[in-house]
Amino acid sequence: MVKIDSNKCTGCGGCIDLCPVIAISMINDVLTINDDLCTGCSICIKVCPMSAPYEEKE
Ligand code: SF4
Ligand code: SF4
Repeated sequence: MVKIDSNKCTGCGGCIDLCPVIAISMINDVLTINDDLCTGCSICIKVCPMSAPYEEKE
């Protein structure tokens, strides 16, 4: 499961278009990942210049 660290995310939007399943969206200026859609491909983790997305182990 991939989460976004809102303290690191600048809202640049760079990851939104790169998510293959369109799981990332900006809601009220806060970036959120739809857990039902996210496949955990980790593309957003690799592209983010702020290292805001991270993998949460459960
Ligand atoms: S690429 Fe990183 S800083 Fe930019 S919107 Fe996505 S999570 Fe936030
Ligand atoms: S891990 Fe992959 S599927 Fe999940 S939000 Fe990031 S880019 Fe999208």
